[in-house]
Amino acid sequence: MPAFASDLRSLTVAELAARVAAAGAPKFRAEQVFRWLHGRGIEALDAMSNVPGELVAALVAERDARWAPLALDKLQEAADGTRKLRFRTGDGRFIESVLIPDENRVEPLGAGVAAGRLLRDKLTLCVSSQVGCALDCAFCATATLGFTRHLSPGEIVEQVYRAAKIAGRRPTNLVFMGMGEPMHNFDGVARALELLQHPWGAAFSPRRITVSTVGNVPGIEKLGRLQPAPNLAISLNATTDEVRDRLMPVNRRWPIAVLLDAARRFPLSHGRRVTFEYVLLAGVNDADADADRLPRLLRGIPTKVNLIPWNPFPGTPFQRPSADRIRTFQERLRAGGLAVYIRTPRGDDIDAACGQLAAREPDGSIVVSLRAKRSPDRVGERELGSREPIAGGVGPSQGPTSMT
Ligand code: SAH
Repeated sequence: MPAFASDLRSLTVAELAARVAAAGAPKFRAEQVFRWLHGRGIEALDAMSNVPGELVAALVAERDARWAPLALDKLQEAADGTRKLRFRTGDGRFIESVLIPDENRVEPLGAGVAAGRLLRDKLTLCVSSQVGCALDCAFCATATLGFTRHLSPGEIVEQVYRAAKIAGRRPTNLVFMGMGEPMHNFDGVARALELLQHPWGAAFSPRRITVSTVGNVPGIEKLGRLQPAPNLAISLNATTDEVRDRLMPVNRRWPIAVLLDAARRFPLSHGRRVTFEYVLLAGVNDADADADRLPRLLRGIPTKVNLIPWNPFPGTPFQRPSADRIRTFQERLRAGGLAVYIRTPRGDDIDAACGQLAAREPDGSIVVSLRAKRSPDRVGERELGSREPIAGGVGPSQGPTSMT
């Protein structure tokens, strides 16, 4: 039984129905409870005003303190409107989520599409899937924390509900690009997706959800088998195995060719593309030769490439390339036929940009300091269990729900 079985927020409707039945209440109460937890995103169970007190008391009594609601520990706002939310979990760990308004400062250079106008109300929430991360990518601040534990599905979805309350509206897009490697916590993430898409809950469309991976091939295959599957993003970050091995130890387990084969096989519904993220590191992966190799590597995959100028954090040897270099790299990729966007750093003045999430104190000390690193090989070999069925079905987006 997974650890999250004792987390009420992590339960499917069918599982909730079993709890409700065990408490001697009729099954229809499960729908009410699910709607409170996931449609309204309540924190305190006694807010469930249409649920009989006895049932509330039974559920409260069962609640495991470890899965207490996330406590907002810190809220920081960047000059560009990006907000970083730091939460403390029931067992005293720290995780971060980032609210990014109007995210598309990225211009589809030369495409002539007024994307900014089309998507003006976009509000993207970047969620964490783990406390820390086991993957040890050389250029990423989260990697310096090491791995502590997986987040429960409830802890993942609660980031969404809490962020919606803080923002005063529901995020339009969700990206699993916060702390952690989603495929390493595949079961937790798959279930969080189910909960988020449920029509009684937040009713997110899978088209509005993107799961980003370091390149875990079995995880990509499983994600592709989900019905419905969300969008896939892959952090590629290099064009040769030699460089990628050094930057991302996971590459020794699933090298570029194997990874891109999995991307090629990922099922894409009409008009969908696989996003490739490419962190630009001066003198490491930003050469003309890289820009010339990338379109050849990605041939045959409907793609969008996001160039992420490296965001600094203390104690690393890397540097962000010059603006000129970034522009030249982008243009070379475009000449090679790729759709390429530059991800302008968002919220970097509060360490909320890509790769900067590390739950750090202002003096630079790390709040989450437990280090329990695995070797990337062991991470790769870890058996990722299969997804459990959910009752109640998963429907398409029903539009905004009353989460605020
Ligand atoms: N583990 C998953 C989810 C995290 S997404 C993954 O790797 O895809 C975070 C993204 O930020 C990844 O694309 C990663 O390559 C990128 N990144 C990490 N550190 C960065 C940094 N310091 N500057 C810019 N991007 C960074």
